[in-house]
Amino acid sequence: MGNNNNRGSQRDFCIYCNALVENGTREHTPPKCCFPKGTEGLITVPACYKCNNASAKDDEYFRDMIVMSKECSGHPQAKEPLGKVLRNLDRQESKGLRIRLADSMRHCLVEYTPGLLEPGMEYSIDLQRIGNVVSKTVKGLLWNDTRLRLPKRYGIAVVPSINFDFLGPRLMALVAEVEARERNSASERVSIGNGAFEYWRTRISSKSNMNSVWLLRFYGGQYFVCFVVPKKEIRNGYFRRAIYEGLIAV
Ligand SMILES: [Zn+2]
Repeated sequence: MGNNNNRGSQRDFCIYCNALVENGTREHTPPKCCFPKGTEGLITVPACYKCNNASAKDDEYFRDMIVMSKECSGHPQAKEPLGKVLRNLDRQESKGLRIRLADSMRHCLVEYTPGLLEPGMEYSIDLQRIGNVVSKTVKGLLWNDTRLRLPKRYGIAVVPSINFDFLGPRLMALVAEVEARERNSASERVSIGNGAFEYWRTRISSKSNMNSVWLLRFYGGQYFVCFVVPKKEIRNGYFRRAIYEGLIAV
């Protein structure tokens, strides 16, 4: 079966909408713009022209927010994309983005030194757009790892690290389990672009290969925990605590 997935195959179907993919077009997952120029070993998946281009603006927004965050901006691999983001912000055409950023700035207390709160600034981010990009990325990684598409009755709950406080004890235990696997067997972690992007995957049900938790990390600092579970569990089950505005992207 693996032999049928050659790059450029005319028989590929879009992993997002199942349309026939013309001319073997593929999409990068995570989006190519998130990586420094010339990064090798990027993952691509079959995607139709429409799905490939539908989220270009969200992809760039995601990249901008990730590399500008204090958790990522110091990563050696973030230097090149961060420079690009800052140059883009300087351009006249970026006036709208500058205004949106300024509008979303507010004064707050920041804990630069543990235990000491000092006046600082923060900007709010659009978690829905961030969640959309992460969710699409997990669909791509799922196909890359298992050659499975996300079934219609399944959903992806995306929890960014800034919201880990909202995770209940059971979810925190799952995150700890995934992180323990990183320590115990490096082979389960996939790293692309010298740590620009890493991910781990673990099954959370012995009955289903689909039910899984994914840990994504960008530039060593921004984590996302993603639960691939039946939609009904996201609404009613123990994933309820992960549901609030911006977290569910499906
Ligand atoms: Zn498509």
